[in-house]
Amino acid sequence: MSLNPKLLGLLRTQFGERITTVATICRQHAIDESWHSPSPPDAVCYPETTQEVSQLVKLAVQFNTPLIPYGAGTSLEGHIFAPEGGVTVDLSRMNQLLAINSEDLDCVIQPGIRRKGLNDQLRHEGLFFPVDPGADASLGGMVATRASGTNAVRYGTMKDNVLALTAVMADGAIVHTGTRARKSAAGYDLTRLLVGSEGTLGIITEITLKLYPIPDYQAAARVTFPSTSAAVESAIQVVQFGVPIARMELMDAQGIKAINEYSKMNLPLLPTLFFEFHGSKSAVSEQADQVRDIVQEHDGSDYLWAIKAEDRNQLWHARHTAHYAVIATGQGSRGWTTDVCVPVSKLVDCIVQTRQDLESSFMDAPIIGHVGDGNFHVIFSVDPDNERQIKEVKRLNERLVERALQMDGTCTGEHGIGLGKKEWLQQEAGTAIKLMEIIKGALDPKGVLNPGKIVNHNPS
Ligand SMILES: Cc1cc2nc3c(=O)[nH]c(=O)nc-3n(C[C@H](O)[C@H](O)[C@H](O)COP(=O)(O)OP(=O)(O)OC[C@H]3O[C@@H](n4cnc5c(N)ncnc54)[C@H](O)[C@@H]3O)c2cc1C
Repeated sequence: MSLNPKLLGLLRTQFGERITTVATICRQHAIDESWHSPSPPDAVCYPETTQEVSQLVKLAVQFNTPLIPYGAGTSLEGHIFAPEGGVTVDLSRMNQLLAINSEDLDCVIQPGIRRKGLNDQLRHEGLFFPVDPGADASLGGMVATRASGTNAVRYGTMKDNVLALTAVMADGAIVHTGTRARKSAAGYDLTRLLVGSEGTLGIITEITLKLYPIPDYQAAARVTFPSTSAAVESAIQVVQFGVPIARMELMDAQGIKAINEYSKMNLPLLPTLFFEFHGSKSAVSEQADQVRDIVQEHDGSDYLWAIKAEDRNQLWHARHTAHYAVIATGQGSRGWTTDVCVPVSKLVDCIVQTRQDLESSFMDAPIIGHVGDGNFHVIFSVDPDNERQIKEVKRLNERLVERALQMDGTCTGEHGIGLGKKEWLQQEAGTAIKLMEIIKGALDPKGVLNPGKIVNHNPS
C-alpha cells in the first residue's frame, strides 16, 4: 500500500519534515511488544498541537486514509499495526506537563508524556501518578488502553484516574469531555467512552489526571509459599480483609526461575508474593502485621522486609524485569503475554487449572499476576516462525480465556483488545458487540481511526 500522492503532498506542505515515509521509521512504528507479525504504515507524522491533529484528521478523512495513533508502542495485542496502511500519528512531541493544580490534586498533560517522566516532574510537588503498567508507556497510550498494573489494587486503573480529556474526533472536531471537578452527573460519560477506545474513536490530545500525595512511608515485603494456590489464597484473604495494600503481585516458581537466570539472582524457587505498603508509619506497620498473620496461616515463609528505597527497589527488581526475563530464558525470541481477570473468589481455581494446563504442555510458561484484582498473565516465550509453538500457545490461550469467561471474568483485565483479542471480545460482550459497532459507525463512519481494532466496521 502507498499513500495517495496528493495527500502526501498536502501533508508535506502542512508538516514539512514532520511527515516521513522512510521505511525503517515506518517499520519501527509497527513493532510492539507482541508476537503478531507487524504491518507498517505508509507514513509517520509528528503533530505538535491539537489543531495540527485536527487538520491531519480532516485530510485523512478526505482521502479515506487510516490514521493510527501511537504513544510509546509498548502495547501487547497488535494495537499499533497498520493492516490497511495509512499514517501513524506519533504523539511523542506532544509531551508537556501543562499544569499542576496541587491544591486540587490534579494535573493537565499532553498525551506523549511518559509515565516515568511525569512522575519525575511531579516529585518536586510531593505528588505522584500511581498507575504503573511496568513499561514506560505514554499517558495517551495508557488512557487509550485503559491501562492498570501493579498499583491498581489501591489506586484504581486509568478509568478511575482520568478526570477530563481533549480529543480530536474522526471528523476533525475538537471536543472536551469532563472537567476538573472530582465528580459529575452531567450527561453521557464521554470521558470513559474514550478511555480504553484504543485510538478507534478519537485521538487524545490533552488529559486531566488525578494525583496523589507521595506516601509518608513506604515498605515492601516478599514471601514464599509451598504452592501457588497457598499464595493466591493469601492474596485473596488480604483483599477480603480490606487491608489497603498498595501492590500485591504473584510470581510462580517458573517466573522466579527465569528471573534467577536472567538477573543472576538466587531467589527461592517457590511461588512468591511481593507486597508494597503505603501510608503513615503506624498504618504501614499495622498493614504489614495483618499481612504477616494472613500469610503465616497459609504457610508463607521467608518473609523479607524492606524500608529503604534501594532495598525496596532491589526487592521489586525481580517483578519489574519478569517480561524480558521470560523471553530471554525461554524457547523463543518474542513474548506472547496474555491476560485475563476473574472475580477474586474464582482466582485460585482459574490459576490452578491454568497451571495444570501449562505443565501438560511443551510450552510451559510462568504465571505472573496483579492478584489483588483477580488479574493475571501467562508470559510465553515464542518463536513467531515456529508453527508448532504458535499453534500450541494459541490453544493454551484459548483455553485460558474460555476458562476466565466461564468464571464470569474478562478476556483482558488491562492489555486491551487490539487485533489479538477481537474474537474473545465478541464472545464476552455478546449482543453488546452490536452496540459497540454502532458507536464506532456513528463516531467514525468512514472508519479512518485505527481500523480493524476492537470491532469490525464496514465504512459507509
Ligand atoms: C513489559 C511490559 C509490561 C506491561 N505491563 C502492563 C501492565 O501491568 N498493565 C497494563 O495495563 N499494561 C501493561 N503493558 C502494556 C502497555 O504498556 C500498555 O498497554 C500501555 O498502556 C500502552 O501505552 P503506549 O504509550 O505504549 O501505547 P501504544 O502501544 O503506542 O498504543 C496503544 C494503543 O493506544 C492508542 N493510542 C496511543 N496514544 C493515543 C492517543 N493519544 N490517542 C488515542 N489513542 C492512542 C494506539 O492507537 C493503540 O491502539 C505492559 C507492556 C510491557 C511491554
